[in-house]
Amino acid sequence: AAAARRWAERIAPARADLAARVADLVHGSADLAAYGAGDRALSACAEADARLARLERRQARGNALATGAGVLTQGLTVLAVVLVARGAGTGPVATAVLALTALVAFEPVLPMAAAGERLTGVLAALRRLREIRATPPAVAEPARPRPVPAGPPVVEVSGLVVRHGDGRAPALDGVSLTLTPGRRVALVGPSGAGKSTLLSALMRLVEPESGVVRLNGTDIRELASDDVRAVMTGLTQDPYVFRASLRDNLLLAGPEAGPDELAEAVRRARLDRWVERTGWDTVLGEDARTVSGGQLQRLALARALLHDPPVLLLDEPAEALDTETAEALMADLLDATRGRTTLLVTHRLHGLEQVDEIVVLENGRVTQRGTHDELVGVPGYYGDLWRSEEMVSRR
Ligand code: ADP
Repeated sequence: AAAARRWAERIAPARADLAARVADLVHGSADLAAYGAGDRALSACAEADARLARLERRQARGNALATGAGVLTQGLTVLAVVLVARGAGTGPVATAVLALTALVAFEPVLPMAAAGERLTGVLAALRRLREIRATPPAVAEPARPRPVPAGPPVVEVSGLVVRHGDGRAPALDGVSLTLTPGRRVALVGPSGAGKSTLLSALMRLVEPESGVVRLNGTDIRELASDDVRAVMTGLTQDPYVFRASLRDNLLLAGPEAGPDELAEAVRRARLDRWVERTGWDTVLGEDARTVSGGQLQRLALARALLHDPPVLLLDEPAEALDTETAEALMADLLDATRGRTTLLVTHRLHGLEQVDEIVVLENGRVTQRGTHDELVGVPGYYGDLWRSEEMVSRR
């Protein structure tokens, strides 16, 4: 056991190093290829592999020696017993019994070496499990969750403060806003302002430090977090395309949906032409290479429309798209969400004259709120961004 512990201390970091390098190689392959760094990363990976193999070979040699020594001791003992018995004039039957007894006496002892070797690994696994169990969950579930309040959803966020980790500046610092049935609210602000954090708080993925989110008057902390997400959910920042047919990729969001509902969701996300060309049964790649950025966002929008949550949350749907694709997507999105209770996070202002309220978030605080017409003329983030967008599109 002591030897195994010493080896584990040397082998575990080497194995972790190799695993991290392989993960980097796989996930970063596109960037490595783009910067011609593939060969360097590969040879660093091969070196880490050789280092681990060297250590494991030496450990295996040690283990083989220990096992061999055990078997050798067993054999020599049997031989010694036979010789001593013969020397003492014991009869052949009794000698055989003595020899077999000596042989069998080793059986329960020999595997102890392997057990000692395994002990280190088992104890390490136990320690890791204990650490996981000791980690508090991101959000606390209520012991007795209350039923989801009935009726059209009214979401009131008041004085919400969220901090990602002790000692860090709050990501949300006293944010209040209200979502009423059928109204669309847009959340805009610079990167890092706390927009995604607000969506995470609404979906019960982060625990607020203070303040409260109420759904029809009930604090959402008193509801099961799955129930909260059944009411408020939507388009995440990085939609994922599964290695499955186009149909199954959509059905994920509404397993019960019939062909008509599927077609309707696809039409409203303006994906119908693409679907016609691609075919419902075409398998989409797991790394989404068969789907362009714009199609991916539209696919995610079709999923969200199919799921049809009472409160639709949309996070930066037009991010990372070129201006033309982004404006077309935003126009379709604003069309498709008309009359739905929606919170739309966006960094593009084009089309926001259609939403009922715009909330500007900067450094975790609401700095402006109002309609497009109210905000565009007054000094501040919104007007400045609007004018710079205008300048770009005129150019
Ligand atoms: P936005 O969506 O407006 O770009 P975010 O809500 O993502 O802003 O981030 C707000 C702040 O919180 C940023 O300073 C960001 O670095 C920090 N933050 C966001 N998510 C996490 C996280 N999971 N862990 C630590 N810090 C985070």
